Amino acid sequence: MKIRLAACLQPDSIVDGEGIRTVIWTQGCSHHCPGCHNASTWDFDGGALVDVDDVITELRGIKNQDGITLSGGDPIFQADACYEICKAAHEMGLNVWCYTGFKYEQILFNPKARRLLEQIDVLVDGRFVEEEKSFDIYFRGSRNQRIIDVPKSLEKEQVVLIDKYMEDKSYEINYKKPQYMFI
Ligand code: SF4
Repeated sequence: MKIRLAACLQPDSIVDGEGIRTVIWTQGCSHHCPGCHNASTWDFDGGALVDVDDVITELRGIKNQDGITLSGGDPIFQADACYEICKAAHEMGLNVWCYTGFKYEQILFNPKARRLLEQIDVLVDGRFVEEEKSFDIYFRGSRNQRIIDVPKSLEKEQVVLIDKYMEDKSYEINYKKPQYMFI
């Protein structure tokens, strides 16, 4: 099976979800949100076709990561290939975040996307809305987007947000005074 990627795997990201993550930049998106930072990923014929097995082999070789993040582009357009990658990532002990322009509720009613959803731990959903853009929020581009705990949402059959990431960033500095000074 092949997947169309916009770029090489990007290890060691600290801005695409919690912890240290390898980002998989998928190619292809039809949402065309005004102000999108990744317009070069819209073209469904762009990027490069890569074997899913090769992506998984490369992932196995990347050390000291907490998880993977599917981004793009919109990974939901390549649900089957992403499903295989996420399943393998879980087997490696990695957690899975996914960014999509679709809403969680839309994904639920598409069988292939729903199957992928079951391999996702955290979904950041919704289109990027320029008027709601903010630098004071965690892991999202605009305030309309939601950071969703997928396993809990599936279990409760309603969207469960991750509250700590839906709050605004705190700029308080937690400086701890050293007990002893060696000078
Ligand atoms: S969904 Fe994401 S990649 Fe697609 S147009 Fe919107 S911001 Fe860009």
